[in-house]
Amino acid sequence: ANAVELRGLTKIYQPTGKAGPKHALKGIDLAIPRGSLFGLLGPNGAGKSTMINILAGLVNKTGGTASIWGHEVSERPRRARASIGVVPQELNMDPFFTPREMLELQAGLYGVPKKERRTEELLDAVGLSDKADAHARSLSGGMKRRLMVAKAMVHTPPVLILDEPTAGVDVELRRQLWDYVRTLNKSGTTVLLTTHYLQEAEELCDTIAIINHGQVVACEPKTTLLRRV
Ligand code: ADP
Ligand code: ADP
Repeated sequence: ANAVELRGLTKIYQPTGKAGPKHALKGIDLAIPRGSLFGLLGPNGAGKSTMINILAGLVNKTGGTASIWGHEVSERPRRARASIGVVPQELNMDPFFTPREMLELQAGLYGVPKKERRTEELLDAVGLSDKADAHARSLSGGMKRRLMVAKAMVHTPPVLILDEPTAGVDVELRRQLWDYVRTLNKSGTTVLLTTHYLQEAEELCDTIAIINHGQVVACEPKTTLLRRV
């Protein structure tokens, strides 16, 4: 079975002002097998965020279907949403909450019973145990990024989605994030990440789909894809 399945997925953004309708996704067919570490590679404007945002329920698709763990996103939105953890590009967070508070709040939102919460374990996994009770405004960008990953994993979703996880992140932190993503994948989490950065897809992912102008132009195991480029 597939963790994520897209069939004929289209998105047309309606114009605001003078711009015409924007065909951001032009019939995407994509199957992401359970257990894979899947990279969606493409230049800026290719449609990567649109795809992620449709899966996350943040953007409504125009046509086609998008299913997560067997739940179609517009037919069973809450089940689809509960099956994913999403790490957005933006690091929006209340500056006066602490990492521990944010993880507890998220656990509450997702109905994780107190006894089943993994707050300490998650803080430790992303190297934030020392900062558990610090105000978010005192965290570096890299720490905030790691906190967002921990937050996405609070309800132990089978699928983790990361939108440009290492954009604007320094080399050392990039390695740390990659290691953590690999660890999660080895323990059974299916991972889907977007990147415009070939090296990231190359080092981290087992399968790579290349998208451009709202279309999939290649989708292959990394080993066969890289032999051709
Ligand atoms: P990527 O994440 O690959 O950079 P996006 O999904 O952000 O690509 O964008 C795909 C295309 O859709 C781009 O041409 C972008 O300008 C356009 N687009 C994205 N969001 C909107 C929006 N809210 N309204 C209109 N056009 C948009
Ligand atoms: P929620 O109601 O939590 O948003 P879903 O998105 O899973 O949950 O489902 C939306 C509605 O469809 C609910 O009323 C649910 O009972 C019903 N539903 C869920 N799964 C199925 C299914 N396989 N077939 C028919 N109806 C379903």
